[in-house]
Amino acid sequence: MKQLKRRKFGATGLQVTELSFGAMNLRLLDNATEGYQLVNYVLDQGINLIDTARAYNGLTKSGEPVESEVIVGEVIRSRTDLKEPLIVVTKGHGYTVPELEEELRISREKLGITGRGALRIGNNPIILVYFLHGINEERWAKVKSSGALDRLRELKEEGLINIPGFSSHYYSRKEIKEAIDTGVFEVVELPYNIFNRILGEDGEINLLAYAYERGLGVINMKAFGGNGLAPVFGAIQECVDIDHRAMLNFCLANPYISTVDAGARYIHEFREDLETALGERPDQAQLERLKQEADIIAPHLRHLCRDCLHCVEKFSCPQEVDFPAILALYSRYLIKNALGKEVAEYKERFAELAADAEKCIECGECLPWCEYKLQIPQMIAKAREELGS
Ligand code: SF4
Ligand code: SF4
Repeated sequence: MKQLKRRKFGATGLQVTELSFGAMNLRLLDNATEGYQLVNYVLDQGINLIDTARAYNGLTKSGEPVESEVIVGEVIRSRTDLKEPLIVVTKGHGYTVPELEEELRISREKLGITGRGALRIGNNPIILVYFLHGINEERWAKVKSSGALDRLRELKEEGLINIPGFSSHYYSRKEIKEAIDTGVFEVVELPYNIFNRILGEDGEINLLAYAYERGLGVINMKAFGGNGLAPVFGAIQECVDIDHRAMLNFCLANPYISTVDAGARYIHEFREDLETALGERPDQAQLERLKQEADIIAPHLRHLCRDCLHCVEKFSCPQEVDFPAILALYSRYLIKNALGKEVAEYKERFAELAADAEKCIECGECLPWCEYKLQIPQMIAKAREELGS
């Protein structure tokens, strides 16, 4: 069997498979069994990094509550054939010392991690990479003033974690640079894809290169632009010559990225990603052509809901409005409309969400929770106007 190439994981001394596995979407599966099968499949393929988080919880389509960390931990514990320590990334929303300690305590418990320094899940040794999850302006201010950075350093010295890191998103470029400059973090996870290269070569600073040059391992997320693009991908492909394979290959071709966590949801998706990762990379001319193609459509994708559900990991609307569902539907309608496609089905589907949309009192409490800074109340109002009967 052809083996995935490995890349240097920053200055950690580790080598990481260039394709890794993001366990965020285990909460979006039809049932929990599929989650266990997927994680086992991933390990069968020799992937050596799994990326989960304390907040990746939810209800499967069949209504079972699932916790990504629990599934990942149970699968690792059940394996007797792992030949090397797995790199397990998990993340917590703890930005002060007590929050950080509590989030880490729960994550270790859910994953079933034991030991200090030399960590294990069951009989299998692991390397625990622990992230401050989703650094943004407010969270970074809290981290800097609360002593959480020093505590993170100590947690490594105490052996409760092996490698400290953080994740962040497109809008927090200043905070990302500042966090890298602290020298505390050894790994960073950032979104980057063919349609949005603002944290890479299109940014004022190429933050992927900046992190790489300072010895950080770089995990790339959102190679496919986030979950929400999947349902409209058919329409996108009618306008531009870019398929999933090209999107993944684009990220894999970036020399500053250590590993791409493409976020496959099903075994067949991961198999396809693996085939891409094992194949040839595009040359410079092909990469330039891909960028030109992507830029035809990129402006239409900027202000869309990605159905990522980050906003409801720690927040729920006081009026019980299922705002991500409304925004996801409205965003699909917007992109199809912009591309001149048939949109009648969206009006029909909105009928099921209309009563929910009417409950929104435009209080704005949800606004700080959207990773894409979407104007949620305005989008709900527009959805009512354009899709309501
Ligand atoms: S603006 Fe609307 S959706 Fe957002 S929290 Fe307020 S009521 Fe809920
Ligand atoms: S509202 Fe924002 S954070 Fe929530 S699902 Fe949509 S894009 Fe993601």
